Amino acid sequence: MINLVLFGPPGAGKGTQAEKIVNRRNLVHLSTGDIFRRNIKEHTELGDLAKSYMDKGELVPDEVTIKMLESEVDRHVNSNGFIFDGFPRTSAQAKALDAFLETKNTSISVMLALSVEDDELKKRLKKRAEVSGRTDDADPDIIANRIAVYKSETAPVADYYKAQNKYEEIEGIGSIEEISEKLFDAIGSHE
Ligand code: AMP
Repeated sequence: MINLVLFGPPGAGKGTQAEKIVNRRNLVHLSTGDIFRRNIKEHTELGDLAKSYMDKGELVPDEVTIKMLESEVDRHVNSNGFIFDGFPRTSAQAKALDAFLETKNTSISVMLALSVEDDELKKRLKKRAEVSGRTDDADPDIIANRIAVYKSETAPVADYYKAQNKYEEIEGIGSIEEISEKLFDAIGSHE
């Protein structure tokens, strides 16, 4: 089993690259943002709660997010592995994920961190808003808050994986294919 954490600020290309990796490796793609958006569309209780945070560019509380992620993992226990996209986003989530995977006799293989400059991120999110219909991509104040939350709460998660020698940083600039190849090399060195 191989379990990957795809990491990076909003607009770094996590969703695009997750698709490439999933296609090649036949992994289960779990994007917490996508799962929240699905719940919002379906007007579930979880969706209503998540929306109140997402609309401000804040993180959904750990307790709710962790519980949701764990039940998604449980639905796919016999898979080849997982690609976690947008999770963990806090140190508490990272610790909970390790503890949970241990109960399944598995663990994170590597964190793949896509790095992209702030100005480029803002440009990409603005462009994405035109096609994604995501309100949190369309408002510059919400974008700025998401990047600020990333820096204060999410960026420290990298240290958690660095301490375990499971951290690989990949520059998220260049063609989609070029970046994918760098990611595949990094995955290969942790198998
Ligand atoms: P994303 O699609 O990954 O950009 O996530 C969109 C929004 O969903 C974020 O701005 C958060 O409000 C929420 N979200 C997604 N993943 C998480 C997570 N792991 N922890 C808390 N909130 C999350």
